[in-house]
Amino acid sequence: MKDSDELLRWYDGAKREMPWRSGRDPYTIWVSEIMLQQTRVETVRPYFNRFIERFPTVDSLAAAAQDEVLALWSGLGYYRRARQLHAAARQIVADGGRMPSSEEELQKLPGVGPYTAAAVASIAFGVVAPVLDGNVERVLSRVLALEGDPRRAATRRRLLEAAGRLLDPARPGDSNQALMELGATVCTPKSPECGECPLAAGCAGLATGSPEHYPQLPERRKPRRQHRVAVVVERDARVLLIRRPDDSELLAGTWEFPWAPAGKDGGIEQSLAERFGGNWQIDRRLGRVRHAITHRALEVEVVRGSVAGGEAIAQGIESGWFTAEEIERLASSSLVGKILRCAGAAGTSTAADSGSRPCGP
Ligand code: SF4
Repeated sequence: MKDSDELLRWYDGAKREMPWRSGRDPYTIWVSEIMLQQTRVETVRPYFNRFIERFPTVDSLAAAAQDEVLALWSGLGYYRRARQLHAAARQIVADGGRMPSSEEELQKLPGVGPYTAAAVASIAFGVVAPVLDGNVERVLSRVLALEGDPRRAATRRRLLEAAGRLLDPARPGDSNQALMELGATVCTPKSPECGECPLAAGCAGLATGSPEHYPQLPERRKPRRQHRVAVVVERDARVLLIRRPDDSELLAGTWEFPWAPAGKDGGIEQSLAERFGGNWQIDRRLGRVRHAITHRALEVEVVRGSVAGGEAIAQGIESGWFTAEEIERLASSSLVGKILRCAGAAGTSTAADSGSRPCGP
């Protein structure tokens, strides 16, 4: 039996149930592929279900306000994906409402690169287009016992050719998903289960005795450590949040607690005044939380404080007062929830509503 047939036979028996695998609707497949970028299947599952329940069609997504789209994405991270998905839905509707079916046309949509275009074209439209995500890259680097960085252009071409050879032209979408599934469940980074693998007979990496040696990825950049002070200002059982500008490099358009870098000359009150305007006062320390975000490791000192009059935020900065319940429906990163829980554990009344969990000293 050919490797491509072995792979599909294995997939038919071993594939995990996923909500986006129940049909071939291009819109839902596209949404799932965008959500799955840099995010694990189990994390995506509830977000996908909520998103599709609220926006079942490309028209409903295009008609939505961006704040609502971001709120449904809240906690999934990489918010640029949500904004681009929304913009792409509007582009599709403006162009007549039909999802593009070719790789070339799909790549004209905001946020759709070669990988997503090949995945949607093959899974939804049966286009014979191999995909190369992190899982496929690992499986094929091992099958070929490929030396050197698999992200280099020449090496990627070899990997794509190998992925192409494993495609069944009658079921290209399933072949692609089979390779991705194999990487996610059998050919895992640290301990591949080669005894379960449909490609074991021809796997050069396995023949070397050390398949985990592949792929030979360059060392990862260490995340930059940043120290911040975040202020919980409370009034009438609501806390003050600031909305990041739409052109922020990170988390654009999402809400966060007012914060300033720790250790700046002049003290934290002055830093807050420079960032947001107003007269700030720090009352007491509540605890410390940690948060990882794109190439940054944040250490956040959580403090309780006030800002003169409660309304003294500079013009042009969008701010608002929210209950813990309202924050759950707001576009915000999971750091906001961590700070709320930290403040709740320290006895702040609004935050206590969200359920308390002690934060670090
Ligand atoms: S035989 Fe082992 S190393 Fe090779 S592809 Fe299969 S699981 Fe990965």
